[in-house]
Amino acid sequence: MRVVLLGPPGTGKGSLAALCEDRLKVSHVSTGEIFRHEIAQKSTLGKKVQTYVKNGQLVPDDLVVQVMVNRLKRPEFAKGFMLDGFPRTDGQAQGLDAALRKLGKPLHGAIYISSPQPVLVRRLSGRRVCESCGMNFHIRTMRPKQAGICDRCGKALTTRADDKPETVRKRLALDGKNAAPLLAHYKKQRRLYRVDGRGRIETVFGRASALFKKLGWVRAGSG
Ligand code: AMP
Repeated sequence: MRVVLLGPPGTGKGSLAALCEDRLKVSHVSTGEIFRHEIAQKSTLGKKVQTYVKNGQLVPDDLVVQVMVNRLKRPEFAKGFMLDGFPRTDGQAQGLDAALRKLGKPLHGAIYISSPQPVLVRRLSGRRVCESCGMNFHIRTMRPKQAGICDRCGKALTTRADDKPETVRKRLALDGKNAAPLLAHYKKQRRLYRVDGRGRIETVFGRASALFKKLGWVRAGSG
């Protein structure tokens, strides 16, 4: 299946994408993870995007679309993909549509994961991430087996620079502004689906995978 995950920061897109990759074998890619990795590597791309990312601002559309379209040409995405954190604006959605049209691989759908604002703030302020493999944890609701250490790759967990309260508020406000035209874009195409993001990640995964099976995007027995 070829889908994009939409929804505000903290709604659980990254955690859901990781579970879908493990259980449904859908390769996922996150623009935020790509950027954090490139910044840590001090690459040319990392240097171009670091001021935006550290301040919770959006990286310009042209640059994000170019990075993602190149990434989607890799063999691991030949069978399908789940995009997390992209597109974030109507311009990016149009750029993605055009690129996928050229590749003859249009999107099946856009999944909007909804959560009330107090839940988002709580999740973001307790989030811990592994900069090495991209896995997310939470200090109360998704604790790693060993405090401060990633279950998947054993590296140290960190707090994202943009999960500080003042940056969180800025990111949520920015997302609120950008979300409406993006949702309208997919609604017009009749490709917009909503999944309730409240509750534990397993519960959200259950809702999402039931939807994917109902739509015939994954096999009934998988997951
Ligand atoms: P995320 O991990 O999705 O919350 O993204 C972290 C940061 O990376 C964002 O606050 C932006 O600075 C940048 N970023 C990620 N995805 C995009 C995108 N699709 N468009 C523009 N900037 C992005």
